[in-house]
Amino acid sequence: MRGEDIMRIELFIGGKFEAGQGAGERVVDPRNGQLIGEVPEASDAQVDAAVDAAARAFESWSRTTPAERSAALLKIADSIERDAETYANLESLNCGKPRHLVLADEIPSVVDCFRFFAGAVRTMHGPLAGEYLAGHTSMVRRDPVGVIASIAPWNYPLMMAAWKLAPALAAGNTIVLKPSEQTPLTALKLAQTLAEHLPEGVANIVTGRGATVGNRLINHPQVAMISLTGDVGTGRKVLAAAQATLKRTHLELGGKAPVIVFDDAELDEVVSGLRTFGFYNAGQDCTAACRIYASDRLYDNLVADLSSAASSLKFNQADDSENEIGPLISERQRERVAGFVERAKDTKHVQIAAGGSQPQGDGFYYQPTVVAGAEQADEIVRREVFGPVISVTRFSDVEQAIAWANDSDYGLASSVWTKDISRGMQAAARLRYGCTWINCHFMLTNEMPHGGLKQSGYGKDLSTYALEDYTVPRHIMVKL
Ligand code: NAD
Repeated sequence: MRGEDIMRIELFIGGKFEAGQGAGERVVDPRNGQLIGEVPEASDAQVDAAVDAAARAFESWSRTTPAERSAALLKIADSIERDAETYANLESLNCGKPRHLVLADEIPSVVDCFRFFAGAVRTMHGPLAGEYLAGHTSMVRRDPVGVIASIAPWNYPLMMAAWKLAPALAAGNTIVLKPSEQTPLTALKLAQTLAEHLPEGVANIVTGRGATVGNRLINHPQVAMISLTGDVGTGRKVLAAAQATLKRTHLELGGKAPVIVFDDAELDEVVSGLRTFGFYNAGQDCTAACRIYASDRLYDNLVADLSSAASSLKFNQADDSENEIGPLISERQRERVAGFVERAKDTKHVQIAAGGSQPQGDGFYYQPTVVAGAEQADEIVRREVFGPVISVTRFSDVEQAIAWANDSDYGLASSVWTKDISRGMQAAARLRYGCTWINCHFMLTNEMPHGGLKQSGYGKDLSTYALEDYTVPRHIMVKL
């Protein structure tokens, strides 16, 4: 394996590194389709051992002070910061992402995620203790939930691991984390850091497929909570698994973010925003600005300018520092994306205004694509593509635009573009999405919650809301 000289390809269970005993999973470089190597997945016995280790470690980790846990998280953050280059190399190798963007955008936010939760867990607050019943003093504790099974997707492997590990560990839980079978490399590298700074069994990392390792994990009776970032269909499987022992669930599922562009919006800003926020990570982002509703007044200019902007995006350049987007994660994902575009081409009222095919050469690339003339009932407007494809729909009535924006099974992210802040605020209040940006899109910060409504799920990542999700309030009453 090419990554082998810079990391160890082993599972991390109960503080020890060991080779997976299950089937080998092919890990492929999406830039050229070549095999990076095979990562053996965990056997059933290894998954069970990881859960056992986490359950044993919970006894002591849940009783450490917030200050002690905070100190460990700060050391993990420092170590990731120190090894930023190695993490960026691995993430770029495994996902095909431009390395300079991983270094500039993802690693600092991962480091800050651990630092944020290291601080936040020391300042948690709640209702006042007092005599709410005469002669009795009541107080509230917030205690950790137990062993968390955390299951991550392939689009931001290290960042998703951080979003899952940092709040759960800060709150005093122990974890078994399963990265996506397609992108295990940075999580396995992170295991070395966790091994240095956490007591044995507090965090465990097992690799493997959803149907085998994931399924064993989410059905394990000792797991108290399942945290998934993934597809809606996988979310349903998690809920089905949770019912046997009434596990808690934290679900961050897909998205299909609407973008309402009012007639007074600053067109240049909209176009430059969509160029970045619609195509970042080759559109493999659950908040991607992919479903545009453009006012009649600027629709034609928007389609023309966005199409040239999309066509100017640089990818597959020999000098990686010039690349703005990478390939899709796999041939399968590219076929899926191409399928959506091909079916859109067959729709009479639709025009492919930019892109619309896969470029020549190696790698799972797909051209940044603008699908104009799309209508609300079209598949391209309704279903999550998870690729570099933006649809544009014309509107003449603002009420209609808001109704269309809300007419979706998803409810993760949305944005509104207008010079009139009052208009923007009114629209934001009516949009049924976990986040609405006004005159921007995609921007996240560790202090603010991230998570959806409707079929986008209901767990909140980031912010003190995540600490609430990973803890349970308990009432303690003393008779005086
Ligand atoms: P996926 O659901 O196929 O896989 C996600 C994870 O779930 C992987 O680790 C996979 O192995 C595991 N898994 C699959 N089947 C399982 C099962 N039966 N039991 C247990 N685990 C199982 O999703 P993906 O293709 O990796 O990721 C893309 C999806 O994730 C998109 O739909 C995207 O919108 C969503 N996503 C959401 C957010 C968010 O914050 N809401 C963030 C990133 C990605």
